[in-house]
Amino acid sequence: MQKLAIQGGKPSRDISSNPWPKWPVWGKEEETALIEVLNSGVWSYNGPKEVEFNKLFAEYTGTKYSLCTVNGTITMQLALEALGIGVGDEVIVPGLTWQATAATVIDVNATPILVDVLEDTWCIDPAAIEKAITPKTKAIIPVHLYGAFADMDAIMDIAKKHNLYVIEDCAHKHGGEWKGKKAGSIGDVGSFSYQLSKHLTAGEGGSMTTNNADLAEKLDALRNVGRRPEGDSLIGADKGIGDYGDDGNFIQSGNFRITEFQAAILIEGLKRLPEQNATRDANGEYLNELLKELPGISPLKRDERETKKAYFNFAFRYDKSEFKNLPIEKFRAALEAEIGIIVDACYEPLNNCSLYVPHTKPARHKLNETYWEGVNPKRFSLPVCERIFEKESVCLHHKVLMGTKADMDLIVSAIQKIYNQSDELMS
Ligand SMILES: *Cc1c(COP(=O)(O)O)cnc(C)c1O
Repeated sequence: MQKLAIQGGKPSRDISSNPWPKWPVWGKEEETALIEVLNSGVWSYNGPKEVEFNKLFAEYTGTKYSLCTVNGTITMQLALEALGIGVGDEVIVPGLTWQATAATVIDVNATPILVDVLEDTWCIDPAAIEKAITPKTKAIIPVHLYGAFADMDAIMDIAKKHNLYVIEDCAHKHGGEWKGKKAGSIGDVGSFSYQLSKHLTAGEGGSMTTNNADLAEKLDALRNVGRRPEGDSLIGADKGIGDYGDDGNFIQSGNFRITEFQAAILIEGLKRLPEQNATRDANGEYLNELLKELPGISPLKRDERETKKAYFNFAFRYDKSEFKNLPIEKFRAALEAEIGIIVDACYEPLNNCSLYVPHTKPARHKLNETYWEGVNPKRFSLPVCERIFEKESVCLHHKVLMGTKADMDLIVSAIQKIYNQSDELMS
């Protein structure tokens, strides 16, 4: 039997001769576009690249309006502000997500209510949402996590029944589709991130999508120091509508504008995205079919209402009882050594997350004692999130899905190799 790489054996993949596909992906197109921006001297402020990208991304997501901003955190903060959510309001968010989904709620002085997720998709549990609704609830922020899609049918039904807004956190879902509708086109606002790890990236950046003209106007103003929409910055909107004064400023806000360099890269990246998503989908399907045959390994559930897949990372579930009780940390370390790429846990549940620490800025956030208690993450019980994080989650970078079928076979055989020798790893 081949010795395990973690015990000094030969790794399943020799990444010095056979590296994984690189991320991010770029080429001459990006180079040319960046030089064009440089030489134009128009480096920011509603420039031609930003306007073009907004138009292209609105088309791509099947929404009427798309607006660029600095990242996929501010997108949610501005969406909450545009929807009039703040002091005294509650917003329901999943306990398993990047900290920003909840932190932005605190940034508008509202209270994030953390609820549990479904064990087969790791996305927000609609039954848990219903249980958490109070007269103060104003919005839900579902996250389409990793490769999965939040159950938008159930979520939109709940929102309608209780008159709540829905902000879709689509930081993992550029191009994903639910019953033929793109992520970011189903709720009131879609929030996208272009941070380097995401599968459409400009290093940093974000977009807000909506079909509502009033909301689009507010979002445009909020990202641009409260100015009324100018020039072509808000494609298709009826300019001049709104309750602002003649001075052009109608909302207090800051500067959350993107640069032309980022927009230039996004235009080129968006051209590559459909094919990249299709490659990741084909490889993900193939890999999941093989993984589900392995003892102790289960793929995340693919909902049949998900008509187009978009992967951020590749995640699956591990059950140590099938691996002679090999602790998941050891499994991940052994797999990492075999395949030469970081093998991680999922996000830390937000009721115990090192980066979600609402009580560290009292000067800004301590409205009163009641609010202070309300934003204490420890008061929320998230047993499914905790179990996934502590015992089940195995996550790989989505670039593994940019390779070949042989690359997928290799991941499977590496897991098999660990399975066959879990005894040795235990000792
Ligand atoms: C990355 C991410 C964000 C935040 O996006 P940034 O652009 O990094 O601010 C929000 N939500 C989720 C689920 C993310 O993965």
